[in-house]
Amino acid sequence: MRGKIFRSIWFVLLATLTVSFGLTAVFLYDHFTEEQLEQLRGETKLVSQAVTLNGQDYFDRLGDTDFRITWITSDGTILYDNEADSHFMPNHLEREEIRETLESGYGESSRYSSTLFERQLYTAQRLPDGTVLRLSVTQATIWTLFLHFMLPLALSIPVLLTISLLLASRLSERIVQPINELNLDSPLENANQEAYEEILPLLRRLDDQHRQIARDREELEKTSLIREEFTANASHELKTPLHVISGYAELLESGMVSSEESRRLFAGKIRAESQRMSKLVEDIIGLSQLDGGGAGMTREFTDLYRIAVNAAESLATAASDAGVTLKVEGESAVMYGVPQVLYSIIYNLCSNAVHYSNSGGRVLVTVRDYRDKAELTVADNGIGIPAEDLDRIFERFYRVDKSHSKEVGGTGLGLSIVKHAAMVHGAQVGVESELGKGSVFTVSFPKQA
Ligand code: ADP
Repeated sequence: MRGKIFRSIWFVLLATLTVSFGLTAVFLYDHFTEEQLEQLRGETKLVSQAVTLNGQDYFDRLGDTDFRITWITSDGTILYDNEADSHFMPNHLEREEIRETLESGYGESSRYSSTLFERQLYTAQRLPDGTVLRLSVTQATIWTLFLHFMLPLALSIPVLLTISLLLASRLSERIVQPINELNLDSPLENANQEAYEEILPLLRRLDDQHRQIARDREELEKTSLIREEFTANASHELKTPLHVISGYAELLESGMVSSEESRRLFAGKIRAESQRMSKLVEDIIGLSQLDGGGAGMTREFTDLYRIAVNAAESLATAASDAGVTLKVEGESAVMYGVPQVLYSIIYNLCSNAVHYSNSGGRVLVTVRDYRDKAELTVADNGIGIPAEDLDRIFERFYRVDKSHSKEVGGTGLGLSIVKHAAMVHGAQVGVESELGKGSVFTVSFPKQA
């Protein structure tokens, strides 16, 4: 970056120097040409007066002069020239300044001289006797004057170049210095200092990104902690039924259980624990699928009421075994979602409501169709949930009463599945409960989602 700034400044200085130098040269050259012409005009007047008075005598007495003087008759014949032999000079009638002088009394021109082989400035004047007096000066004279002035300027170029080099280097260093001194770990700290206004948006963005990274890291740490806890809990939950199974199997294998009745009892225990394990594995798989936020799941328009009826039908035997009445009420509510995930929400809520109700209890499932949402409520008049546990019941493996949960075949994952399944549909889950009186779970599915 510094190199680029340095080159830019250096280029600007160089361009400025070149343009200034060029303009000075053009100006000086024009100036000297004009000066020479002025001098030539004055000299032409003087010499014309002298020749008018003295005729050929003037030329005979003429010493060294800076100008070339030519005397020409009105028919173009050269009478005299102080720098060339007039006898060998061609007729000058066609020369521009001579033609102009013969017409108007005075003429000027600038051209290449075929006699002296260099560029000349000419001024000519008609004398009272009709002859023409012409004075000229070579451009070489102008060049000499010009170079005389330009030489010191040209000599100053290396000095100017060195100064501009140092200047460019110092300036680029000063421009880059505040950027190098930025504290990128806390970008907004620089905003109070003498940072460039132009890079403030960049610093703000950097600060936002820092915060985002910190938030992401925190989130990641939280997720990783939850995963670790989950793995530990899952292995523990899986080990318990395995121990029971292996214990009863050993007893049966040892032949120490003699009565048929005991053998049947132990086999029943093994079956029940296997079923619990199988339910646990199913729930773990279901939860891990929902962890992805429903990516890859096929959504369709589906009637929440129909799904509620199906879930209630699946739980009818369990409900009647527990002596609980399970009823579905409400209306058809078509929404866009994943049918099997919606089913798992209703099934888990109803299963809990049945299992945490006493015999003679009532569970009412209601589906309502609103303009902007479909609403599901599962209400029971069961054992209820203590207020201090309400915040935690959606955590994985959290149970209010572990032994009761185990007794009713719970895995501790049911409400976790409900929460994640609701999230897949952008839905909110709410719970109201009073110990000993019952619980009401409400899930609101926004229709837009
Ligand atoms: P579980 O498999 O133990 O039922 P859940 O995640 O479904 O696990 O529920 C977590 C805990 O919340 C349960 O152990 C239970 O203590 C409590 N709970 C859930 N639903 C109800 C309900 N309808 N009535 C009373 N307690 C409930």
